[in-house]
Formats: sequence, structure tokens, C-alpha cells
Amino acid sequence: MPSYDLIVIGTGPGGYVCAIRAAQLGMKVAVVEKEKTFGGTCLNIGCIPSKAMLHTSELFDEAGHAFAKMGIKVGTPALDLPAMLRFKDEGVEGNVKGVAFLFRKNKIEAHNGVGRIAAPGKVEVTAARGPSTVLEAKAIVIATGSDVAQLQGITIDEKRIVSSTGALSLEKVPRHLLVVGAGVIGLELGSVWRRLGAQVTVVEFLDRILPGIDTEVARQFHRILEKQGIGFKLASKVAAIDSNDLMLKVTIEPVAGGTAFDLDADVALVAIGRVPYTEGLGLEAIGLKLDNRGRIPVDGRFATSVPGIYAIGDVIAGPMLAHKAEDEGIAVAEIIAGKAGHVNYDVIPNVIYTSPEVASVGKTEEELRAADVTYNVGKFPFTANGRAKANQQTDGFVKILADARTDRVLGVHIVGSDAGNMIAEAAIAMEFGAAAEDIARTCHAHPTLPEAVKEAALAVDKRAIHM
Ligand SMILES: Cc1cc2nc3c(=O)[nH]c(=O)nc-3n(C[C@H](O)[C@H](O)[C@H](O)COP(=O)(O)OP(=O)(O)OC[C@H]3O[C@@H](n4cnc5c(N)ncnc54)[C@H](O)[C@@H]3O)c2cc1C
Repeated sequence: MPSYDLIVIGTGPGGYVCAIRAAQLGMKVAVVEKEKTFGGTCLNIGCIPSKAMLHTSELFDEAGHAFAKMGIKVGTPALDLPAMLRFKDEGVEGNVKGVAFLFRKNKIEAHNGVGRIAAPGKVEVTAARGPSTVLEAKAIVIATGSDVAQLQGITIDEKRIVSSTGALSLEKVPRHLLVVGAGVIGLELGSVWRRLGAQVTVVEFLDRILPGIDTEVARQFHRILEKQGIGFKLASKVAAIDSNDLMLKVTIEPVAGGTAFDLDADVALVAIGRVPYTEGLGLEAIGLKLDNRGRIPVDGRFATSVPGIYAIGDVIAGPMLAHKAEDEGIAVAEIIAGKAGHVNYDVIPNVIYTSPEVASVGKTEEELRAADVTYNVGKFPFTANGRAKANQQTDGFVKILADARTDRVLGVHIVGSDAGNMIAEAAIAMEFGAAAEDIARTCHAHPTLPEAVKEAALAVDKRAIHM
């Protein structure tokens, strides 16, 4: 029976990073993956393909709407959707091949098939074809990720009623795309198809978009998206989707009660979130109980209730983000190796890759108020940033929340072009326990968008220069 120090089940960003770190630490490592390619949700059907589509559709939109103003004459750009989808697929291929290369480089043995934990220390791998094999290991890490959350009574066919997976490969631009859910995935993919020419309507149960994001940020972003032509039906729920005709008939009900109405759409995207995935792992048989949201409970060292079995990533509590899964992968490998692995959950950035982008790290104003923390706010708009003005990309602002007593940065929220890259500065500052004053005294290159971060830090003490 093949024997290892560590078996990782699942090769998403949590699993593959964990396997590499464990191999670096001298462990003999195997991974088990049920899909044909490595990289999990993120590389195959999540982060990577969605960002490729956001990139290409943004350029398409710019070519059609912004180039002429900049003095670039290209005529009306024509969409070659099959080529755009190929470009996306090539990006995915490059990434998943990269993981296979890293496994070989680190002498990690890969087993294809569904992994079931037959007993602590034993994983049975059942391939699509051929007999199953049993592997042995001192430790097992479950990194089986998540799956699309289903909307009750609505069947996803990935053609007309799609999840994010189908929405990344639509064969033609829908005339009307109805998006169920104003979360990150719904707004990113809604933006993609709006830029490519679809009419887009987003239906959201809550009375706001982007639950969990700072309310002021979400409000301003909502207005920007409306200006871009995305329609919203807030405080509304999709009660049914009738797919018997050529067009889908979507029945929408106000959450507070009242008259339901129908909207026609050619494609409906169900983007109401994701749920942990533990199917086929055989957890019940080994006595591992899930929590009330289907997640695997772990302690501060990622250990489950069964000795020798750990879990990380989307399948445990916390934000369902690739970089959170990666950091947990590194931490658990280090813990298993007897080192001090650690994840700082107070400093996990969150990015929405729309145009403009939305990025945040740390606490929102609502969270600080709820925790009775007194704080100062420093805000700086991109309308006053030299580079943003030169590029004529002035939508948005930077907001820094700092402890009123100590000036320590507690949260940073950015709406703006390139916010996703800018948030890294805030994350590093917070990781080092910086005060707003530290950011304000750090020399920032001119002319750059991050100068707005410095100005927001100055504004915490009411001394922004360019405002
Ligand atoms: C459209 C979309 C866009 C996204 N964009 C972003 C983004 O921009 N940034 C970001 O941070 N996050 C993003 N995410 C979220 C991100 O993809 C996840 O947080 C991340 O993939 C979680 O990593 P993971 O390793 O926990 O699990 P996953 O990536 O889900 O990987 C789990 C792996 O386990 C395998 N597996 C499951 N069960 C078994 C079994 N029994 N045996 C063998 N293999 C098994 C699965 O096949 C899969 O390969 C996005 C998600 C989606 C859907």
C-alpha cells in the first residue's frame, strides 16, 4: 500500500499550496483530485477564467467607448466571442499546467479519482475507470472546497439557467441576462456580459448590493454600476423560472410582500453563493460531524475532531477566497511539520474585479460601530488624484478607518480603478500594525493612484493636501 507523510484531498488553491509547502518541509506528499485537471474551482471555473473574461470584456468596452476620446481610432470593435472564450481557456490551461509542473518539481504524487477517507490514515481513491486503490498517510488534509448554492425549485442546466460555470462559457451574448444575487460573482459576471452587449438585470433579496461590504462603498458602487447600465431589483426574490418558452419567464416577488411581476430573459445566472463540498468523503462513517452550514469544524490548528485529519479552504468557516485557502494550506502544512503556522483573519483582503474595482481589508464602519470601537475616518476621492484625472478614471474613493485612541488602521476600503492592487499596501500596513500616520508619512511615487491611499491617511487627521 503506497504510504505517505501527508495526503491532501483536493487540489484547489488550498490543497495544492498545502502539498507544495509540505513537500518543501521534507514530507512525502500525495494529492487526490477527482477532476481531470488540478487547480480546483479557482483555476478551472472561478478566479482565473472570470478574470480573463473581465479583462477582455473591459478592453472591448474601452475600445468601443473610450479609445476615440483618447485619440485612438479603431472604428467600432467587433466581438469574436469564440476567440474570446478561447483566450480565457488558454489562460486556464496555462495555470492548471503550472500546478502539474509544480507537483512534479516538488515530487508530489498525484492520484486521480474521488478520495474517500476509509479510516483515519487511510484514503481510498476511486478513479472513473479502473480499480480503486488505498493510500496510507500519517496525516490527511481535506481541501475539497465548495460548490454552487442551488436556488430551491430552480434547476441549473448550464445553458439557459446557468451557474457561474455556465456563465463563463455562454455561446452567444444574451439579449437579456437576469442575475440572481448581487454578490461578487453576480456583479463580476453581470459586468462581463453587460460590456459585451447584454441588457443585465440583477435581482437581490436584500435592500442593498454586496452584503458584508462597507455600506458607503456599496452605495457608491451601486450608483456606478447603474450608470454603466446594469439594472437592479433590490429587496426582491426570484420565485420561479419558467423555461417552457423560447424566453425564460422569471417571476419576481418583492420580499416585503406585494404584487409579483414577470421578466423575460434569455439567460438566468444563479449566483446566490457557494456551499462547502464534502460529498463522497465518507465523513459520517469516521464520525466527523459537519456544522449547521455543512462546513467541517476545525480548531485553531485546522484539526478536525478526528485525530490526524485536518481541513482548510472553502470547506471550513471563513471567507470563501482563494488566498485565504492558500494561506491556510501553508499554515496547516507548517503545523503538521511541527512549526508555528498561522493565518491572520483580521487582514484578509477582498476584491471585486469590476470596473472600477472594489477592494477592502479589515473592519467596515458597521462592524466597528457594532463593536463599540471609536474610530476616525479619512477619505480621499479619485477626482482629486492626479493620475486618476490624467487617465480620466476618477470614479471612487479611498476610505481609511483608524482607531480614535491609537490611530491604528482598522479597515481600508477602496472603490476605484486598480483598487485590487492598491489594497495590498493597506494589508501590509495592517499586518505590521501601522497607524494612519505611518501610511501618511510613507513617501508615495507621483503620479500614482496609491497617492490616494496616502491622502486618505492624511485625511484621518484632517490634513489631506489635494482636497
Ligand atoms: C466564478 C468564481 C470566481 C471567483 N473569483 C475569485 C477571486 O477572484 N478571488 C478569490 O480569492 N476567490 C475567488 N473565487 C473563490 C475561489 O475559487 C475559492 O475560494 C477557492 O477555489 C477555494 O479553494 P479550495 O482549495 O478551498 O477549494 P476548490 O478550489 O473548490 O478546490 C477543491 C478541489 O477538491 C476536489 N475534490 C472535491 N472533493 C473531492 C474528493 N472527494 N476527492 C478528490 N477531489 C475532490 C475538487 O474537484 C476541487 O478540485 C471565485 C469563485 C468562483 C466560482
